[in-house]
Amino acid sequence: MSAILIRNARVWDGENDDAYLGEVLVEGNRIRTVARGRGQIDGANAAEIVDAEGMFLMPGMVEGHCHLSFVGPSRNQDLGEIPPEEHLLRTCRAATMILNHGFTSCYSAASAKLRIDVVVRQEIEDGYLAGPRYRAAGPEITVTGGLGDERKAHMHAESFGMMADGVDEVRRAVRLCCREGVDNVKFNVSGDEFVGHARAEIVSMSEEELTVGVRTAHDWGKRVACHSRAAESVKRSVRAGVDCIYHCDFADEEALDMLEEAKDRVIVGPAFGLVHNSVFEGDVVGLTKDVVERMGLPRKLEHTIRTYEQMRKRGMRVVVGGDYGFTITPMGQNARDIGHFVKFFGYTPAEALRCATAVGGDLMGHKGELGVIREGALADILLVDGDPLADQSVLVGPDHFAMIMKNGAMFRDPRQRLRPAHRIAAE
Ligand SMILES: [Zn+2]
Repeated sequence: MSAILIRNARVWDGENDDAYLGEVLVEGNRIRTVARGRGQIDGANAAEIVDAEGMFLMPGMVEGHCHLSFVGPSRNQDLGEIPPEEHLLRTCRAATMILNHGFTSCYSAASAKLRIDVVVRQEIEDGYLAGPRYRAAGPEITVTGGLGDERKAHMHAESFGMMADGVDEVRRAVRLCCREGVDNVKFNVSGDEFVGHARAEIVSMSEEELTVGVRTAHDWGKRVACHSRAAESVKRSVRAGVDCIYHCDFADEEALDMLEEAKDRVIVGPAFGLVHNSVFEGDVVGLTKDVVERMGLPRKLEHTIRTYEQMRKRGMRVVVGGDYGFTITPMGQNARDIGHFVKFFGYTPAEALRCATAVGGDLMGHKGELGVIREGALADILLVDGDPLADQSVLVGPDHFAMIMKNGAMFRDPRQRLRPAHRIAAE
């Protein structure tokens, strides 16, 4: 079995607050040994030795709300206007790009077309496409008029939604996704500020529809995520048994209490990037201050912040992932959410990093063996040139990653990196 020994690293294990000088031995696709200090692990049997030169060693990051097939749309219906062939190729590019940005795992929060996620996941698993571990989803199952229904009378339009009204249609939509091979099922339970006729505080999906949908998905062994911004939609999602509830911006006291009571089975995620960029960086896509105000986005931002301060205090498991993939949230910015957790929600840097690693591993279905550096864990490891505990922005963009290892294999090898002295000599 191949073995790689990484020496002289500052190890942050995804679980504790501090990093320490240490070394990690990887055998096959697993971490075999983790040790504090120098020269503790015998390198004699290691085929390869990597000197980390004091760099920061941490678990590969997990994107908890990923849309690889959202390939830069400005409007939702733009996704319906890309033919499947182009759409698939562009999604493949996004898969490689996100791995290159340090995300070795992604939990899909919806695929814009039914089979894109599934096919991309398979291509990655079969070793033909460079990409993260990927839990594939189907489109967002939604009701007529809900988020994801871009049609108007006499006008056909598609986006990321799969229309289903009534329990029979919802059950059928879930089975259809299962037949095509998804790992995750997604429901849109509330509207959104971006939907004029179904704003964020509108509850669009009935309790009966959601309950039947969740039960069907669970019968088929799938994980369920949902889009729920309105307080009542959050409560409905908890009662229906949803595994991962996104947004929750307008959760009231009762909804927060219900979440807290269910925190051992429910994971949440704010998907804050889209909210953040719309309010603070909307200008780049023509979202002027006036429009942003009229859409109620600053108000939504305030609610999100208050809600996630509470989520933190109540000990909820929260994942990062911010609806990256739209024009306003370009794929590749994903790690910005980690800094947002610190700046806006009051997380300590280590807590925010855990949301991007250990908690994400839990969401991926590998609690305790993904998103952590410990003996027996899956070998998804980054070497970062910088200190993310001091400055989270070093995790944004590909530049600071000297090593990206997924499942024990080097996607980026630090030994192929030009040292500063060599760089100068080459110039
Ligand atoms: Zn989303």
